Amino acid sequence: MTSSAENIESPDDPKLDELCEQLENLGPLLQSSSDWPSNSLALCGQYGVYRWFIETRWGGLGWQEPDVVRGYLRLSSACLTTTFVITQFVAACRRIATSQDDALKSELLPDLALGKTFATVGISHLTTSRRHLAKPVLVAEKVAGGWKLNGYCPWVTGGQSADNLVVGASLTDGAQLLLVASMNSTGIQAVPGFELVGLSASQTGKVNFDNVFVAESRRLSGPGDNIMATAGGGGTGGLQTSTLAVGLSRAAINYLQKQALVRPELSDNIDALQSQFEHLQDHLLNAAAGNPSCSREELRTAANSLVLRSTQSALVAAKGAGYVEGHPVGRWCREALFFLVWSCPQPVAQANLCELAGLEI
Ligand SMILES: Cc1cc2nc3c(=O)[nH]c(=O)nc-3n(C[C@H](O)[C@H](O)[C@H](O)COP(=O)(O)OP(=O)(O)OC[C@H]3O[C@@H](n4cnc5c(N)ncnc54)[C@H](O)[C@@H]3O)c2cc1C
Repeated sequence: MTSSAENIESPDDPKLDELCEQLENLGPLLQSSSDWPSNSLALCGQYGVYRWFIETRWGGLGWQEPDVVRGYLRLSSACLTTTFVITQFVAACRRIATSQDDALKSELLPDLALGKTFATVGISHLTTSRRHLAKPVLVAEKVAGGWKLNGYCPWVTGGQSADNLVVGASLTDGAQLLLVASMNSTGIQAVPGFELVGLSASQTGKVNFDNVFVAESRRLSGPGDNIMATAGGGGTGGLQTSTLAVGLSRAAINYLQKQALVRPELSDNIDALQSQFEHLQDHLLNAAAGNPSCSREELRTAANSLVLRSTQSALVAAKGAGYVEGHPVGRWCREALFFLVWSCPQPVAQANLCELAGLEI
């Protein structure tokens, strides 16, 4: 990532269009786990995107939540992989920003705001991953001056490119804590990313911990029960997940609308998708402004439904050509499946299953 030269000041700034056009052009190059989106992320740094999410006192622009939603909608319709990587960076920044430790914040946040360093999260094993196992996958032990970590994080996006990892761990008594581990620590190892159904270039994989020491000064929260409910940063099934699903729907609906210019028979169905998109966009903006018009779970369920239906409608319109490797519509269909598994709390998973079974939600 590089430092910013031409900051996007608001979601209405024409420079956001300029950035999105470049991200859209780079998107097709991001195919496998060896294609880390370094150029796209560097561009986001140059346009000051990382600053949107960080308070002004730490060098950010401190965008309000509705503007963040509008920004994410644009970015995710241009390139979901890059935007997803940014959400994991933002999750790390938000958890650092909500800690009580100003010294740690002033050490880490200014460089993160400028894109000089990259941070990511390994927290899902405290919420939505490996919860059925008898033993925690990552165990913390109190030692002199800090904590020792052993085990693994099952999922970390961009671990090999990160300077810092906001990591959740459990003590043997079940209490949880959140720490910032340097990726240069002795004993920490990010394994190469998995080849995924979509978003492989996000370089998501395991991070192993073998007696990794993390100093007490890098503890963000805990030890305590169920700390993710209180640790700040959005929680599972949060607004940003729904926003990215709606953003990807935008890409598919735009494609359909262009097709309908020469194929009027497509129009009725596209109008229905467009109106559902607008409805969901309003719900997202209301929720971001603190006046929710439905629950977070309802929003996420509806966003999942729209992204699956709109991307598959685009495939129907693109026909066989859309099923050939390299066509954007095929990529969007694969990417849409991600929302069935990403940070998907039980009520949302249950609602998805009901819809797929053809039952009333
Ligand atoms: C591309 C991608 C990127 C991600 N990036 C990050 C990231 O950067 N940071 C982060 O913290 N998280 C990340 N996640 C994790 C994500 O948010 C979810 O936590 C994850 O998808 C949950 O899936 P899981 O396979 O780990 O779930 P699990 O619940 O662990 O399920 C795994 C398997 O266990 C079995 N199983 C599940 N439940 C039960 C049960 N009750 N009884 C018996 N068997 C069961 C099933 O066979 C299942 O296939 C990412 C996930 C993906 C796919």
